[in-house]
Amino acid sequence: MNFNTTLLHKDFGSDRSTGSTLPPIYQVSAFAHESAEKLEAVFNNRAPGFAYTRAGNPTNDSFEKRIAAIEGGIGAVTCSSGMAAVAVSLLNFLRSGDEVVASAALFGGSIDLFKDFEAFGIVTRFVDDVTTANIEQSINEKTKAVFVELVGNPKLNVVDLEAVSAVTKAHKIPLIVDATTATPYLIHPLQHGANIVVHSTSKYINGSGSAISGIIIDGGNFAWDASRYPGLDEYKRFGKFAYLAKLRNGLWRNIGCCLAPVNAYLNSIGLETLGLRMERLCENALRLAEFLETVPGISVNYPALKSSPYYELVQKQFGGKGGAILTIDAGSKERAFKLINSLKFARIATNIGDVRTLVIHPASTIYTHSDEAARLKAGVTAGTIRVSVGIEDFADLKADFEQALKNLD
Ligand SMILES: *Cc1c(COP(=O)(O)O)cnc(C)c1O
Repeated sequence: MNFNTTLLHKDFGSDRSTGSTLPPIYQVSAFAHESAEKLEAVFNNRAPGFAYTRAGNPTNDSFEKRIAAIEGGIGAVTCSSGMAAVAVSLLNFLRSGDEVVASAALFGGSIDLFKDFEAFGIVTRFVDDVTTANIEQSINEKTKAVFVELVGNPKLNVVDLEAVSAVTKAHKIPLIVDATTATPYLIHPLQHGANIVVHSTSKYINGSGSAISGIIIDGGNFAWDASRYPGLDEYKRFGKFAYLAKLRNGLWRNIGCCLAPVNAYLNSIGLETLGLRMERLCENALRLAEFLETVPGISVNYPALKSSPYYELVQKQFGGKGGAILTIDAGSKERAFKLINSLKFARIATNIGDVRTLVIHPASTIYTHSDEAARLKAGVTAGTIRVSVGIEDFADLKADFEQALKNLD
């Protein structure tokens, strides 16, 4: 099965008994059982079934199975948000005294989160550029995870997965990849060396900006050595499912960051058109970037542009597709605001992955908690505008940017 067919026809546990074509929405908190013995068995993972939605729900289960199958993972756990997914993907095995090596060009929320980890004794070493040499240099005996965004939001730096995963593998450290902006349409990171993948499914997988949500997918391809990851010791009996078993029976469940079933349903609908949307989004983004490159007085950053330092890697790793985000540097905050305010179709909103084109000034919003040095490392200048390109007809998009850019002078 090819990508779009997979999205529709891979077994995703829909309700075969009724023939419903979409997963039914089990919008309930609890599941009743015919005997105390049965509930005891379900509760203690000795029988299949559901007890309480915080620990599992059939609609969520269906969404998890679909994403796991599409990404080629051994299983997935869905979360109330992308941030919850990032947080528990790491806290599932990190302990006080551990260190993480991460890209300095992460999504602003993730940078804030890693700062929050410091209160619990977990320190992050940020590398300015995600090169094998920089990662190698930052790894020490306390390093327990390497965390990167495959395509940084909004720096749009592209990580060479095969090169980076060779380093993490050699050091026996799990590579956790936030693939939100790349989406499964560009790549299946688990097949290129990633061990754990997280998505903010609020974005491209949902596709219409209708539900905040996240997901963690386990590749089952990392050997959790109990001497380095003592928390996983008691889950050894689950074999390659140890990480997922610990998540489900531990922090994920106990923090209570479960997804609302109706949101899993909305995501399952969105997922079916991911391929179609991404095809159009990547095409619109490339055409818009090529047009913006010809406009004097601004600069444009898009990884699939020939002028991008990531062009070759985008060809090799993503088959030439550059995703659906580009950034414009308008030169100053004033000019950026003027350009944003002049756009007619692009909505001014803090989101990506919508069918509508969205624009934002990251320095005054997403990176408002970072100092200037950290902002610059994340690719955010005073004049940066992030454009999350939508599926509008390209002629209309281009005309909109053309008229707005005329207003700049
Ligand atoms: C949006 C985003 C997140 C956070 O996801 P939420 O669903 O907003 O919590 C994490 N990583 C990346 C790359 C994102 O774009």
